[in-house]
Parts: sequence; C-alpha cells; structure tokens
Amino acid sequence: GATIGILGGGQLGRMLSVAAARLGYKTHIFEPAANPPAADVAHAVTVASYDDMAALRAFADSVDVITYEFENVPTAALDALEALRPIRPNRRALAISQDRILEKDFLTGLGLRCAPYAAVQTLADLEAAIATIGAPAILKTTRLGYDGKGQARIKTAEDAAAAHASMNGAASVLEGFIDFSHEVSVIAARGLDGSVACYDPGENVHKDGILHTTTLPAKLSPSMRSDAILLAARILNALDYVGVMGVELFVTPQGLIVNEIAPRVHNSGHWTQNGCAVDQFEQHIRAVAGLPLGDGGRHSDVVMENLIGDDIDRLPALLRENDCAVHLYGKAEARPGRKMGHVNRVIPKG
Ligand code: ATP
Ligand code: MG
Ligand code: MG
Repeated sequence: GATIGILGGGQLGRMLSVAAARLGYKTHIFEPAANPPAADVAHAVTVASYDDMAALRAFADSVDVITYEFENVPTAALDALEALRPIRPNRRALAISQDRILEKDFLTGLGLRCAPYAAVQTLADLEAAIATIGAPAILKTTRLGYDGKGQARIKTAEDAAAAHASMNGAASVLEGFIDFSHEVSVIAARGLDGSVACYDPGENVHKDGILHTTTLPAKLSPSMRSDAILLAARILNALDYVGVMGVELFVTPQGLIVNEIAPRVHNSGHWTQNGCAVDQFEQHIRAVAGLPLGDGGRHSDVVMENLIGDDIDRLPALLRENDCAVHLYGKAEARPGRKMGHVNRVIPKG
C-alpha cells in the first residue's frame, strides 16, 4: 500500500494515522519532539529537526504524499519536501494561515467579513490602530499563536503600552473586539477532484483560551447554517484546497464573521468521530490520497468535551457513562493546559 507522510506527531497525527491504517495506508510521521503521541500507531516515525535537510529528504523519499497536522513548518523545510513529493493541502493555504494579516487580507479579498484589523509593530502603530479601530480590542502575534497564547486584551487606550510590551517585539495585529453571541466552526473538506463536503457547523465554547466543548447541532438559523457552509466552500475553492480545513466563525446579529482558518483537521471536528459515518480524519486521508469524499452527513447529536490537564482524573467516571465515546492520546504526563484526550457524548437523532 501507499504511505502518507505526516508532518507533526501530536494527537491529530495520531488520529490521522489510525484513519489511514483503516483505509490500508501506512503513515510516516516527522516530528521534532521525542515520543510523539502518533508514534504508537504510525508505521514509521522520524524524530528530527526541521533544519535537518537530510532527514527531511529521507522522509519525503519514503512516502507518496505529504500532509501535516501542524502549520508552523519552516519555509526551507517545505521547499525541500515539495521538491520530492506533493504537499496537500498546498503551500498557499499553509502560508496564508500561518500569518494572521495574510489570512485576513485573503478572507476580506474574497468578500468575507473579519474583525477590523491593523498591522502593529511599534507602540506608535498600536496607538494609531486603537485610534482607528477603537477599544475594546485584542492584540495578537501575527504568527505562531494557538490556544489563545500570544494575545493581549485591550479594554481602553491606557492598556496599549502593557499589551505592546507583552508581544516582546513580535509583529502583531490589532483586532477589533467582536461582540458575538456564540462561536461556531465549519469543518470542510475538498477532494483532489474539486468536490466539497462540509460537516454541520458545531458550536464551540472556550475555557481559558482553549476549546472546551463543541456541541451539535449549533444554535444557528437555517440561513446562517447555509451561509457558514457556503463561505467555507468559497475559501476552499479559492485556495484550490485538498484536505480538511477548520473555519472558525463568530455569530453576531449582523451575520457571520470569520475568526481564523486552520488548514488541517481541527479540534472542533472531533465530534465527527462519533457523529458521522466518515469522520474528519478519514475524510482528510481520503482527500490527500485522491479518494472520493464522504458526504459529511451527521447521524447523531454530539457534545465533544476536551479532557485538559487533570480533567483526565475523571476518566473512571467517564468510562461508566452511557453513550460516551472516549478518545485518549497516550500522553503519559498530565500538565495544566495539556490536551490529554476528549469524549464524545452521543445522542441519536430522532
Ligand atoms: P486556536 O487554538 O483556535 O488556534 P488562537 O490562539 O489562534 O486559538 P483565536 O482563535 O484567534 O486564538 O482566539 C481565541 C479565542 O479568543 C476565540 O475563539 C474567541 O473566543 C476569542 N477572540 C479572538 N479574537 C477575537 C475578537 N476579535 N473578538 C472577540 N473575541 C475574540
Ligand atoms: Mg489559531
Ligand atoms: Mg482559534
């Protein structure tokens, strides 16, 4: 069988490897950190730095196609890999989602709505941006932020200096604060043949900047539900995308506002494992392998809950619950903020 190379060996790489094995593919993981969660289930693992060009070339030589579960792969590494094997989703999708300014320029260029934003480097830039955009607002590093890291809330103009200092000189973007009623995300997929399949939008609740629960169905009017799906499809088509993408949206009385996109399987799509015949991991493998996609249909209502840090102490009780599917990542040590696993509570649709 063919081998799929995956950059990144976290829980997403682990669940992609399981899905690939079910379809008869082998996976080869490339990951800089030792003992990655995906190592338990992948066929091969290379633990090496993204600066190690020989290791990258050997990895690419051993696989048929390359995908990723981690966006922040250095450009030089991608150049070396792409010279040898196709990378799906493509480089443009990765470049855009690595940089919040490129991302918002791209999305607004498609006619979609984002929070008002301005690039910030100096304190003077920030003061000027606050004068234009207003407060409250959020300052975010342009690159490398996740789980709410690299963000500073600005309540009034007086918070500017402290917020700017907290960026440690990193290029950043000021975003106007969106007064949303709730957050939803669309997990969307596009195949090699250009066909698009979207899952029903899920409603997301964050705790301490980290996704806590995703609930299906989301509170959405029928028109907003179709808006969400149509805008996600527009993003994938514009990028000539192949694979699964997570599209995070704010719901407001004036309509949907795009927060950010993630060019990979997404934590808010874990509910699909127990809500759909073809889950997001299988869907992504199908897409990158050039197979037909599942249709994204949902057979059940689901509440996904992340098990973070010592949430994992509740495991014995969770295992005794009815209709509660448990997914663990095989991480030995529970640290605060660390994603240890998740559960999907399944309610069959009437
Ligand atoms: P992720 O782990 O999803 O990649 P991240 O670090 O990239 O997170 P964002 O998604 O940009 O962070 O922001 C995290 C959360 O902060 C959002 O889900 C939302 O709840 C809140 N937030 C971010 N930007 C705004 C905004 N402009 N207005 C209001 N709330 C916001
Ligand atoms: Mg993000
Ligand atoms: Mg986010």
